[in-house]
Amino acid sequence: MPETIIKIDLTQSPYDNDKVHNRWHPDIPMVAWVKPGEDFIVETYDWTGGFIQNNDSADDVRDIDLTIVHFLSGPIGVEGAEPGDLLVVDLLDVGAKPDSLWGFNGFFSKKNGGGFLTDHFPEAQKSIWDIKGMYTHSRHIPGVEFAGLIHPGLIGCLPDRKLLDTWNERETGLIATAPDRVPPLACPPCAPTAHMGRMSGEARDQAATEGARTVPPREHGGNCDIKDLSRGSRIYFPVYVPGGGLSMGDLHFSQGDGEITFCGAIEMAGWLHLRVEVIKDGVAKYGIKNPIFKPSPVTPHYNDYLIFEGISVDEWGKQHYLDVHIAYRQACLNAIEYLTKFGYSKAQAYSILGTAPVQGHISGVVDIPNACATLWLPTEIFDFDIRPTAAGPVKFVSGGVDIPLSPDLD
Ligand code: ZN
Repeated sequence: MPETIIKIDLTQSPYDNDKVHNRWHPDIPMVAWVKPGEDFIVETYDWTGGFIQNNDSADDVRDIDLTIVHFLSGPIGVEGAEPGDLLVVDLLDVGAKPDSLWGFNGFFSKKNGGGFLTDHFPEAQKSIWDIKGMYTHSRHIPGVEFAGLIHPGLIGCLPDRKLLDTWNERETGLIATAPDRVPPLACPPCAPTAHMGRMSGEARDQAATEGARTVPPREHGGNCDIKDLSRGSRIYFPVYVPGGGLSMGDLHFSQGDGEITFCGAIEMAGWLHLRVEVIKDGVAKYGIKNPIFKPSPVTPHYNDYLIFEGISVDEWGKQHYLDVHIAYRQACLNAIEYLTKFGYSKAQAYSILGTAPVQGHISGVVDIPNACATLWLPTEIFDFDIRPTAAGPVKFVSGGVDIPLSPDLD
């Protein structure tokens, strides 16, 4: 058996585990060292460190302090890895923790987190997904079951000082353009809830004030939330600090392209079986700025899709110029409206798009003024036929059911 170099006890607060951190900073000490060619196992919390519970209330999604996320396992040092190298990471396997075979999906309140469709779903909602082997289904969303495309939402190496400063400068600059916006334009450093791993003393307190939040994807990878970066993938990461400092977390049992629901995919605690190698001077040799990866040879096999088109004309009829964000939002809204004809609530339909192996494509970006995005909904995940027919949609889902909602408190 490969060694488990980071263990997680789900009954323990992540703040009490010194092999965990929730900020990016070059000075966070390595918690373990491995040699190139070695394989090993890393356990992780879910991204909220156990804050979201397996129950039928969305109060936890409404009330969470989002400055606590993401709880990452690491950093792991790789012997011989130096700045400018590429760290090759094989995701040999990824799974749910056997003592926690469930995951959650939710929408944050617009006042606390928001999300891709927050203007349409402004209050907190949550669905719970049970994991049965390679499949998942939810007691809150009938009529749908699918195989997991299991992946870490977040994985990457520690930044060096220069890169950290670049991140902080450009993101605080963006926030300054609309400082009172709700939700905010970006997530600035936040010392009170920082977990700086094994740092201590004054150095720790100083680093906590400048440690980059883990929310956005950046040059090092990080929170990319790419569903296809699944077990069996091989990833090539730029190395910025000696040893690399590989950290990871935010495991997803399954996710639709875009992770549109934001809280999040099907979020779970779990483990990764990894193997690492180093390509000396790989960053310059291959002209790498952001990570690259090879997908898994083994993925769930869905062949048939119903594909929804969206164009860059918004919900209020306003024309936008080649805006793929707005076009994808329209494709998603079109799919949600369609699914309600089979009896789903809009929230249930939204949750399906956030969790199932839905594909999102940028289909056209040159036909002025409209970008075209498409959302590919796999038809085989449903217990019933979702294709349009002359007979019209059959209401499969009985009326009145919905996923738990927790209204905002004033
Ligand atoms: Zn996630």
